[in-house]
Amino acid sequence: MSEKILCVVCPLGCRLLVDIEGDSVSVEGHKCSKGIDFAHSEIIEPKRNFSTSIPIDGEVFSMLSVRLSSVIPLKLFSTVICEITSLHPETPIHRGQVLIHNVSDTGVDVIATRTVL
Ligand code: SF4
Repeated sequence: MSEKILCVVCPLGCRLLVDIEGDSVSVEGHKCSKGIDFAHSEIIEPKRNFSTSIPIDGEVFSMLSVRLSSVIPLKLFSTVICEITSLHPETPIHRGQVLIHNVSDTGVDVIATRTVL
């Protein structure tokens, strides 16, 4: 079975052709070895990072942007989003502050990306 995927590791965006034969995975179209690692990860357990915004408790118009400290499995996105959106942080919040440690048992933290005093 062959599958075409886009490597999103860097802005070059190589188009990869992944051939899967049983336990064997071969990759073509990559310009560096990260593309091979990415293709294997996409086939076995796709992972992504993301950032979003959440409301700040007691602030009517203010939103706080947050990011993940690392990638999480794609299949856990909705669980992680639910945990993040249930968060109502109070000020003061400092840039780089960990708002959720080990979100949804992923080993990844949710971090504030700006300071709100
Ligand atoms: S294969 Fe390498 S060069 Fe191509 S998009 Fe992925 S990381 Fe970038």
